[in-house]
Amino acid sequence: MMGDKDYRSIIKNAIDSIGRELETEIDGNDFKTIHLQEAIQCLRRSYYDRTDAKEIERRGFNDLLSGLLRKLEYGSESKEFTIDDIKLRGQADMIVDDAIILFRAAQTTPESPHANDLLYLNACLWIYDKTEGMIIYITSDREEFTFSLTRDKKMFEEVIRRVRVLSDLLNERKTPILEPSQNCLDCQYYQRCYIIKKNSKQFSLSEMLGLSKEN
Ligand code: SF4
Repeated sequence: MMGDKDYRSIIKNAIDSIGRELETEIDGNDFKTIHLQEAIQCLRRSYYDRTDAKEIERRGFNDLLSGLLRKLEYGSESKEFTIDDIKLRGQADMIVDDAIILFRAAQTTPESPHANDLLYLNACLWIYDKTEGMIIYITSDREEFTFSLTRDKKMFEEVIRRVRVLSDLLNERKTPILEPSQNCLDCQYYQRCYIIKKNSKQFSLSEMLGLSKEN
């Protein structure tokens, strides 16, 4: 708190409103168009985002980098890949010399790329018909870590399977099963998935497993 102004909340509001501007526009009722981000993240989260959305908590400007680059279309417009009667729509952050580049924020030095980022990059390679790509992680200390990938068919088939599952479940109004992972701890639907009310006392998955939500 400085003077009469709470600068922390001003910055948070700015990050939230820029984040909303940068979000991919998704038509919640178009079950035949699935966005790549929806297919690679937890399908339950994607389902809630369309049917009963809750705003995500953004941590800082670093989290906005990828969205900014997509919005500015640095050599990459969104593109569709047809899967029977479903369209998978994806957008790379940047395409340079025929290589697809993704930028991601990292809290700490990454030892390997995150599985979701690999699925996203690999799917972009198929959607844009390219063979090589890279993910660049940028930490809050402005350090960069790069991982390269050559496209892989099996990995893309897994994304196609997830696209079909999400489209079917949206159509049938059935909530996807839980996909427990480290991502749950930052997910805006954590309480919906894991907090169980029992005899007026609340239990959560992290408590039962002895994990802290801050970990
Ligand atoms: S808390 Fe986990 S399982 Fe539930 S929607 Fe979020 S990521 Fe999916």
